[in-house]
Amino acid sequence: MPPPTREEAEDAVRTLLRWAGEDPRREGLHDTPSRVVRSYEEFFCGYAEDPVDLLTRTFSEVEDYDEMVLLRDIRFESHCEHHMVPIIGVAHVAYLPRKRVVGISKLARVVDAYAKRFQIQERLTAQIANTINDVLQPRGVGVVIEASHQCMTTRGVHRPGVSMVTSRMLGTFRSNSDTRREFLSILNRPGVTGGV
Ligand SMILES: [Zn+2]
Repeated sequence: MPPPTREEAEDAVRTLLRWAGEDPRREGLHDTPSRVVRSYEEFFCGYAEDPVDLLTRTFSEVEDYDEMVLLRDIRFESHCEHHMVPIIGVAHVAYLPRKRVVGISKLARVVDAYAKRFQIQERLTAQIANTINDVLQPRGVGVVIEASHQCMTTRGVHRPGVSMVTSRMLGTFRSNSDTRREFLSILNRPGVTGGV
């Protein structure tokens, strides 16, 4: 199916406003459809990003560094694909390099490239880990995500304060309990500003 035009997308917002009980012609709502559509371009810019490409273009070869690289508390905003409302959280990403490392900003951009789409947290976690694993071919990858789902906190079961934790461990992070323990203990160390 071809993508809708901007006008069609704005009309869809007017339909939802009417569905909620509003009159889209009301003055305060006049520019709302165009604002919502522009917001969607920002919320879902990940569809235009290729996470594999982000890592492929930027790695450098390292022969001697073989310790864990860990980026923690990468704040992200995503949207639940079941309710189209925000999922807000932090991702912690670690890997044990074999030959290749990337700049830490690239790891954060991989998180964003997948987060800025309609998601479920389990898939987001797996996609980040799998991409790093496939492109950098490290000895192992660990990804932990803690997030709050507005579909749980503001509607349905109304459970504010609840966060969901998911993880994906590959390679040595899966097979070696020492590596996994080192990763998880760094996440629990004071100074972690995360938690949502
Ligand atoms: Zn949901």
